[in-house]
Amino acid sequence: MSVKRNILLNPGPATTTDTVKASLMTPDMCHREQDFVDVIEKLRIDLVKIAHGNENDHVAVLFSGSGTINMDVSLNSLLPEGKKVLIINNGAYSSRAVDIANYYGLAYVELKSDFACPINVDDVKKSFADNDDIALVYTTHHETGSGILNDIRSIGHIVHEHNAVFVADTTSSFALVPIDIVKDNVDFILASAQKGIAAMPGLSFIIGKRHLIEKSKDYPKRSYYTNLYRQYYYFEYNGEMQFTPPVQLVYAASQGVKEYFLEGEENKHNRIIRINQAIHDGLKRLGFKETIKRENQGPLVVSALYPNDSHWNFKKVHDYVYERGFILFPRPVGGVQAFRVGSLGAIDVTDIERFFIVLQEALLSLKIEVPVRY
Ligand SMILES: *Cc1c(COP(=O)(O)O)cnc(C)c1O
Repeated sequence: MSVKRNILLNPGPATTTDTVKASLMTPDMCHREQDFVDVIEKLRIDLVKIAHGNENDHVAVLFSGSGTINMDVSLNSLLPEGKKVLIINNGAYSSRAVDIANYYGLAYVELKSDFACPINVDDVKKSFADNDDIALVYTTHHETGSGILNDIRSIGHIVHEHNAVFVADTTSSFALVPIDIVKDNVDFILASAQKGIAAMPGLSFIIGKRHLIEKSKDYPKRSYYTNLYRQYYYFEYNGEMQFTPPVQLVYAASQGVKEYFLEGEENKHNRIIRINQAIHDGLKRLGFKETIKRENQGPLVVSALYPNDSHWNFKKVHDYVYERGFILFPRPVGGVQAFRVGSLGAIDVTDIERFFIVLQEALLSLKIEVPVRY
């Protein structure tokens, strides 16, 4: 069986290997069977390993849902009665966390910070100085819209000085750039199968401190299906999710994790960096301006501004490259129209080079001047 290989330059879901795709074709299986319980157990242990967690102190709790389910779960489950969550917001994903806090009616403080720069840790200190009832701090490691990588290690240090719990949304950085949950001073990280481990969307994981999950047992219960302690409890005592897991997605995620370890953390990080360099080079060659200053960007997503040319039409450019197997995704950053080129997935520099050849053809076929103008 051969499946067409699309190059997904949108930041998730990502291009998968043929072996990950093939892993979906398994014999039908009931999730209560020991064979399946063993697969999910190994996956949970491996996810803790990727985070450099400690097998006794850290656990991975899996959920059936896209990455946002982790944001929902961590916010609704980890806030004690009478306390506040500090949401440090410098981008679209932390804004989504603010939305979630509003939906649950959580008491929160929002530290709103410039979308074009990493979070300033002095501002975090000030938030603690101004509020003595912060028990939980939430932020995004890699803001997938802008490509900004926040310094979670320094933020986590301050959070722990104030005895608060720190959740970092690492959905678009986990298994892509090295993360050490202990050294990085994070209590919980969030990730999802369709990004760093290049498997299928629909399965997400929260990796974090066992004793903090156990402590949250007595916190206000704000959700039934998406409560962290409940899901943890079922894993610990039945080896299973509370309810039916996405069986085939678990097999695919396990294959993605296997391939992650085969490549190795350092090799993978190096591949991400060389892909990212090829993206910067390709954009520059065609004259595209980037939305965010290079020194503020991580190596994962580059956001490029729409050029100022009367023939520019993102949809037409998109359709041209789409027909040739490349997927591009637009997203305004800070209110300005832009499109993004990501380094996630089972791709390499040759795919990026081919993409820029096709993108140049697309521009010329639409009579857009190259290099593009602003
Ligand atoms: C992708 C992503 C999510 C989850 O988005 P879904 O569409 O629900 O999978 C959350 N946070 C960040 C930073 C992301 O990149």
